Amino acid sequence: MNFAKRLIAPLCLGLVFSVTGWAQSAAPFPGVITIAVDASQAPAKLFHTTMSIPVAAGPLTLLYPKWIPGEHAPSGPLDGLTGMKFMAAGQPLEWRRDDVNLYAIHLTVPAGIRELKISLDYVSPADDRPGFTAGTSATAKMAVLSWNWMLLYPAGFPADRITYKASLRLPSGWHWGSPLPLAATSGDTIEFQPVSLYTLVDSPVIAGEFFQGIPLTSPGAWPPVELDIAADSAAALQMSPELEQHYKQLVTEAGQLFGATHYRDYHFLLSLSDHVAHFGLEHHEANDSRGRERSLIDPSLNQLMAGLLPHEYTHSWNGKFRRPAGLNTPDYDVPMKDELLWVYEGLTEYLGNVLTARSGLLTPEQYRDNLALTAASMEYRSGRTWRPLLDTAVDASKLYDSSEDWRNWRRSVDFYPEGELLWLEADTTIRNLTAGKKSLDDFCRLFEGAPGLVRDAVPAAKSYTFDDVVAALNQVAPYDWRKFWLDRLGSTSPHAPLGGVEAGGWKLTFDDNESELMKIEESVGKSTNLNYSLGLILENEDGHIADVRFGSPAAQAGIMPGMKLVAVNGRAWSPEVMRDALTAAKSSPEALLLLVQNTEYFKTYSVNYHDGNRYPHLVVNGKPDVLTGIIKQHGESVK
Ligand SMILES: [Zn+2]
Repeated sequence: MNFAKRLIAPLCLGLVFSVTGWAQSAAPFPGVITIAVDASQAPAKLFHTTMSIPVAAGPLTLLYPKWIPGEHAPSGPLDGLTGMKFMAAGQPLEWRRDDVNLYAIHLTVPAGIRELKISLDYVSPADDRPGFTAGTSATAKMAVLSWNWMLLYPAGFPADRITYKASLRLPSGWHWGSPLPLAATSGDTIEFQPVSLYTLVDSPVIAGEFFQGIPLTSPGAWPPVELDIAADSAAALQMSPELEQHYKQLVTEAGQLFGATHYRDYHFLLSLSDHVAHFGLEHHEANDSRGRERSLIDPSLNQLMAGLLPHEYTHSWNGKFRRPAGLNTPDYDVPMKDELLWVYEGLTEYLGNVLTARSGLLTPEQYRDNLALTAASMEYRSGRTWRPLLDTAVDASKLYDSSEDWRNWRRSVDFYPEGELLWLEADTTIRNLTAGKKSLDDFCRLFEGAPGLVRDAVPAAKSYTFDDVVAALNQVAPYDWRKFWLDRLGSTSPHAPLGGVEAGGWKLTFDDNESELMKIEESVGKSTNLNYSLGLILENEDGHIADVRFGSPAAQAGIMPGMKLVAVNGRAWSPEVMRDALTAAKSSPEALLLLVQNTEYFKTYSVNYHDGNRYPHLVVNGKPDVLTGIIKQHGESVK
C-alpha cells in the first residue's frame, strides 16, 4: 500500500508525527462534532449524513476511515462515499482529494468561518456482496449500521480525543439495539450521548422490523449483556428455550474463564438474513455477527453458526481490551501491523470454540468433528512448505481478500485454524508442566482478565508485544515459551502442529465416513470436498474446480484450479458418481479417467488413485483424555 509520507496539516506546538505523516495532537479536538444520520431509506441501501464541525480559518484536512478495527485491513468502503458537499456560512466550499492518500480531503476554511457543514451519502452495496462491513449490510427489513461508513474526521487528533454527538433516524416502526449510550428518542429518531470518535465507530447499530432483544444476564446484574436480533422474518426469531439457555451459559462460561469483564453494557448484534454479507466483527461492547436467516431455527445452520458468537464475544477480552501494539493505532489512517494476529485471532479461535462447547452450543462430539476438520485442513495445506504461519499474519490484509483458487498453495488467513491448534498445544503444555494444576485458563485470567473495567469507566485498549505474551506464559508455567512460539511460527514443515491434539488424548485419522459437520458444510456451500483423497474441491453446480492441493493425485495428473470437471469414467459428473468411482477404484487396478474442460478445450486426465473416500476424524490415542476436560462446562448452570 502507498501512504502519504508528507505533512499536510499545519505544524504547531504540541504536535507529534504519526506513522503516516499526519500531525497528531496530544490535545483534544476543540469542540463537539455533530452527526445526524438519516437511515430512513436503509431498505433502499441509501444513508444520508449531515455533519457540523467547529473549524478555524486556514487549511483543513478531513479523513474518511480507512483501516477498520477488527477487519485488520484498509477496508473502509471509499467507493460508497458519495454526494459529498461542504458549506461555510451558506456558501459551498471547494475541496480536493489528496493525490496519494485517497481517503484524505483538503479544504481551506475562509476567514471568519467557525463552523463547517458537511452533507454526504453512503451508498451500501445494492447487490448481495460478500466482505466485511463494506459488504451488503441492509435488506428490505433490517440493517446493520457502521458509523465509519458515514463520517469524516479531522486529521491530526487521535480518535479517542475527538467528541461526536450522534443522532440516527430509522425507518418508521423499526426497532434497534446498540451499546451506544442513549440520550433520548423522539419518534423514529434516536439521540445518543456525546462519545469519542473511537467509541462511535466501535458501536454499530442493528435495526429492523423483525427484532428481538433478549437479556442474557439476570435482572440487575452488572454489567448487563443482551442479545439483539434483527431478521428478515418473524419466524427466524423463534429460537428454542434450550438454545437461549446455551447463550446465557456462554456469558457465565466467559466470565468464569476470564475472571473479569471490560464492558459497561454488552450487546450481541445478530443479523439473520440470506442477503447480508456473512461474517462476525468484534467491538469492545458489542459484536456485529451475521448468519443465514434460519440459523437459529434450522439445526444444520445452527451447528454451522455455533462458534460465531462465542468467537466475537471472546474478542471483547482478546483483541479489544488486550490488543497487539501494531493494531492499537491512534486513528483509522495509521496502517495496522498484523503480525500478532496469531494471538488476536488464533487464541480467540481456540477459546471461542472451547467456550462454544463449554456452553453447550456444540456437543463434545461436534466440537471434536470441528477440530478434526481444522487439523486435517492444516495437515493437508501444501503451502505450509514455503510460507511460515507468521507470514500469513503479516500478510493478513491481503490474504483476507484472496480468492479460493490456489488457496491450498498460497495459504490463507491460516493463523485462525493453525492458531487454534497451537493454543491447544500451549494449553496442554501448561497442564503437563504443572501436573494439571494450571491451564491456559490461568493465562487468560492473568493476561486478558485483570484488571476488569470499573463501573462507569470507558473501555480502553491495553497494548501488548510478543515479549509480553511470553512473559505472561512464563508467569503461569516457566518454560522456553519464546522458542515454543518461534519454532512453530517459523516452521515450513509439511506437517501441521498436532502436538496439542495428541497431548489431549486424541489423534487425527481418516476413513470413508463423512462427519455430520462436513456434510453440512458441503450442503450449505454447494461443494464437494475431496481434499483428503484426490486433492480437489469442486463446486457442485457446474463442476468448477475451486482448488487443487499441490502434490495430490489430481495435481500430479495435471488438474489445476479454474478447470471444470465434466465426467468421471465416461459418466457425467455428480458428487455421487465421483464418490462411487472412488470406492470402486479401491479394488480396481484401473486409473480414474476424469474428463476436464480448460477454457474451451476438453482433455481426459488419468488419475492413479486407489485409497477411496477419505474424511477426517479424531479418535482416542490411549493417552489420558485431557481434551474432554478442557471443553466440559466449567461455570455453574444458568437457571
Ligand atoms: Zn476474530
